[in-house]
Amino acid sequence: MLTKKTTSRQRTRIAPGQWDDWRWQFRNRHRTPDGLGELLGAETAQANPLRRVLGVYRWAVTPYYLSLFDPRDEADPLRLQCIPDEREITFSAGSSEDPLEEDTHSPVPGLIRRYRDRCLVTVTNRCAVYCRHCNRKRLWHREEYALSDIEIEAIARHIAKTPSIREIIFSGGDPLTLSDARLERILARLRAIPHVEILRIGSRMPVVLPMRVTERLCSTLRRYRPVWFLTQFNHPREITREAAQACERLLTAGIPILNQSVLLRGVNDDFRTMQDLLHGLERICVKPYYLFQCDPVRGTDHFRVEIWEGMRMMEKLWKTTSGLCIPRYVADMPGTKGKVPLQPVSFL
Ligand code: SF4
Repeated sequence: MLTKKTTSRQRTRIAPGQWDDWRWQFRNRHRTPDGLGELLGAETAQANPLRRVLGVYRWAVTPYYLSLFDPRDEADPLRLQCIPDEREITFSAGSSEDPLEEDTHSPVPGLIRRYRDRCLVTVTNRCAVYCRHCNRKRLWHREEYALSDIEIEAIARHIAKTPSIREIIFSGGDPLTLSDARLERILARLRAIPHVEILRIGSRMPVVLPMRVTERLCSTLRRYRPVWFLTQFNHPREITREAAQACERLLTAGIPILNQSVLLRGVNDDFRTMQDLLHGLERICVKPYYLFQCDPVRGTDHFRVEIWEGMRMMEKLWKTTSGLCIPRYVADMPGTKGKVPLQPVSFL
């Protein structure tokens, strides 16, 4: 069984320094069907349902994130976020892969514009860990890719002739799967557009591959400030020493960090877990910004919590927790132009 103990043994088999090398972690992601079978045990390796899931949605997990949980504990909140589940392909009829119609708001490949003053640039569809609740699972049907220089140039030209865009959000996939040099070329090109005031990096690296947040990356980001960093811690056990150090490096470089959790059934849908998560974030100076209602994206039904349950939890948080660490509970509703705040009636 691959427990933490086994993982430490695995660590002793690798050369010194490799564990802390993000490129080693990235190259050694567990991502094959056989690898998944091995992790889950012989019987499960042959089980048809998971192979069928992998035929629809790919998977990958870093050795680091895997070391944080026991892959055979089906109820583990970290496992739930990264190990495929056959419920991903038993979705309800009529569900959509793109309920927020991002693809129809894409004037140029790789650019999504749902708001007047900001746009999203999906520089790649690649991630260190493929979160099973991801709202862009539709991007996983293509092989892993990153935008070419020509595509980035087309995006830059579109933004340059759209003066109302003052913020660019780099997302994906995870933009930090690009090399520092590539990322810097993109940041430099887009930062040079006079009306672009703010750059935001959306990345789960501090959570799933904190080694990626190197001093070098932080000094690169620092050169393009104001840069805001948005990440996604969903469970208090994700706030490890390594994750805290990664956040500290960003903060020391003058990059503020906001957290956008997703409310997930079995992961963080109970009050105590959520409170521990928020307190943990406050301790490492990461501001809880949003708590997202899980989008109604195909393949994520089993994660969705009823809105009234989320509101009940928020109400309890407001009565017991410092306002500094309480996020806004919001939903991105299909057919609306933006995020809708979800507030308990007693607050209105
Ligand atoms: S890191 Fe973000 S984009 Fe990548 S799979 Fe997870 S939620 Fe989706």
